[in-house]
Amino acid sequence: MKKLKALFIFILLASALHANTSERPYVLLISLDGFRWDYIDRGLSPNIEWIAENGVEALSLEPVFPTKTFPTHYSIVTGLHAENHGMISNSFIDWETGERFTLGNREMVENAKYYQAEAIWETLRRNGIITASYFWVGSEIDIEYRRPHYYHRYDSSRPHLDRVEGIIEWLQLPENERPQFLTLYYSDVDSEGHRTGPYSDELNASIALVDSIMGVLLDRLEDIDMLDQMNIIIVSDHGMTEVSHDRVIELHHILDDYDIVTDGVGPVTMIKPDNADDIEPIYRRLKEKEENYRVYLKEEMPTYWYYSAHPYIMPILVVADIGWSVSPWPYDPARGYFATGGNHGYDNKHIDMHGIFYAMGPAFKNGYRTGTVRSVDIYPLIMEIFGLQPRSGIDGNLENMRFLLRE
Ligand SMILES: [Zn+2]
Repeated sequence: MKKLKALFIFILLASALHANTSERPYVLLISLDGFRWDYIDRGLSPNIEWIAENGVEALSLEPVFPTKTFPTHYSIVTGLHAENHGMISNSFIDWETGERFTLGNREMVENAKYYQAEAIWETLRRNGIITASYFWVGSEIDIEYRRPHYYHRYDSSRPHLDRVEGIIEWLQLPENERPQFLTLYYSDVDSEGHRTGPYSDELNASIALVDSIMGVLLDRLEDIDMLDQMNIIIVSDHGMTEVSHDRVIELHHILDDYDIVTDGVGPVTMIKPDNADDIEPIYRRLKEKEENYRVYLKEEMPTYWYYSAHPYIMPILVVADIGWSVSPWPYDPARGYFATGGNHGYDNKHIDMHGIFYAMGPAFKNGYRTGTVRSVDIYPLIMEIFGLQPRSGIDGNLENMRFLLRE
């Protein structure tokens, strides 16, 4: 009996060891910034289409509100809405210090105190998984254990193929140093969408460009014999919509006689009066003139935005209707970069703000299509691929995406 038991345990151990070496999961999470949900229908992205057809294709990816790059990317890797992860916009004021966070300020971008959630690489690290990032929001912060093991400081001019080769080099490390979770990022489609809008020839060229990079990536993964093992997830952080000089809402006429601080131009402007007694009258005045925008008190935001509970959010929020732009000061078309071409940041239920979700690999079903999925559910989905529990208390829910995985 004892012998049998020992043999049984040996078999169990052997199969566990076997599973560890042959079924070691790999996940490569790729963001194509500003890649709108319907760009794939333009026939310019054969490589992305190939991934979608040989894996899982969602109709669209619903980002969090506000539909801006920093909040949305941070939600993807934390499973949290903006009010819960604290990265409430690309720019905001920390009222404790009076400092303004902006995505262009290195010191701010690396300051861990503005990243008030646990990113997936931190959860994975704690579970003994090696992680790497070739760019992602929150991957460069100034606390070692909160970063991926391997990472790069963001540099928008880093050549496209260098990034692919960086991923390939990491994947060729000896197994005990090799990352199993990796990220990769390209900004081209977003930049061109801002400059020339979502329907321009230049925008279409940027779709073809990032798609060709995806083609190189697939070839290189095949070269190193990793394509079959890799779970590739391609997402974007938001979509894009056309804006115009002819659709600008100037607020200074309405607010001129108040002392206020504002943050944001274009889709969303936050307002904080110097005197708290002015909140109510300013709100009422904006409400009376409400046209082509909506005004909200912090406490009365639409619940599906999950955009009230954080102290950085100002007392009044003005959100432009889709395609309109808010300017807190007199609008100068010569400086009005935010009202030309395209923009994003609007209501996350508007389909123009939706991004993409395509995934392929051993964990995913093949040739499976589904409807809209949510960016906050990606964190628990990836944790499931690694067979790990997601952190408790997140906003994302595995059940919203589990059906994309193979049994
Ligand atoms: Zn973006």
